[in-house]
Amino acid sequence: MRIDLHTHSDASDGTQSPADLVALAHQAGLDVVALTDHDSAAGWAEATAAARDVGVTLVLGMEISTRHEGAGVHLLAYLPDPADPALGAELGLILAGRTGRLEAMVERLRDGGLDISVAEVLHQVGGAPAIGRPHVADVLVAKGYAADRSDAFTRWLNSGTPGYVSRYATPTREMVRLITGAGGAAVMAHPWGRGSRRVVDLETLALFQAEGLVGIEVDHQDHDAADREELTRLAGEIGLVRTGSSDFHGDGKVDHELGCNLTKPDQLDQLLEAAASNAAASGRAVPEVVRP
Ligand code: AMP
Ligand code: MN
Ligand code: MN
Ligand code: MN
Repeated sequence: MRIDLHTHSDASDGTQSPADLVALAHQAGLDVVALTDHDSAAGWAEATAAARDVGVTLVLGMEISTRHEGAGVHLLAYLPDPADPALGAELGLILAGRTGRLEAMVERLRDGGLDISVAEVLHQVGGAPAIGRPHVADVLVAKGYAADRSDAFTRWLNSGTPGYVSRYATPTREMVRLITGAGGAAVMAHPWGRGSRRVVDLETLALFQAEGLVGIEVDHQDHDAADREELTRLAGEIGLVRTGSSDFHGDGKVDHELGCNLTKPDQLDQLLEAAASNAAASGRAVPEVVRP
């Protein structure tokens, strides 16, 4: 069983449509793929239809932007009810923060001498609800200001560079509660990826676990072998599910090919059981994965 639980489509900052992503997952020999676009379920319907078509099992999810002690923490939410009003309201705030930041970013880049407009970035976004720095990066690359997305981040978009503007993100504990309350299973994405290492330790994980955190993404390209070993130990110590995933972004991120990291079937089963029990606790029908 090949299971990859973290991917992005062009419903956020990936470069493939949800349908193409699902087809690629099938071609890559995956049995199960989760679609986890940033802060929105916009790609779910298209991915669902495609999964039935090509014959791959699809887990519907999102990757949600949160903040803990000033550091960005990304939470993967599997099978939350997208119609949950509390979760929906909070996602609305995050998306509005993304949209509101764009004008300020473009203004800063223009102050830095770059010829770039909001309209150009919106054209690149193409209607995705989650506007991100990668969309700005793509415009910078197209106009010759950077070699690729990564170069654009290093020169213009990372914190401490001319184009950086921060944005709203939900406090992590609150978002774990909201995901859990919406019948989903919350998993911390790349706990020791860029940015969040400083704040994520055993004590913080226990704090989030008390709110409903179910697992941590151990096998991720941001983690080296030593990180993975240490995170595996932490997960074992407090009983968190341990996942592995690609964080695929299509052509937008090198070295994140579909299936480059995998989740074990028993770990996925535990996530699905947690979602089922959270759904039951909030009076919902058990959320189903999309089976071919
Ligand atoms: P934002 O969502 O606007 O805060 O931008 C963060 C997103 O940018 C992440 O989800 C990554 O997909 C992407 N990203 C961050 N750093 C890089 C990088 N060095 N190269 C390519 N993509 C990046
Ligand atoms: Mn991304
Ligand atoms: Mn992330
Ligand atoms: Mn991601």
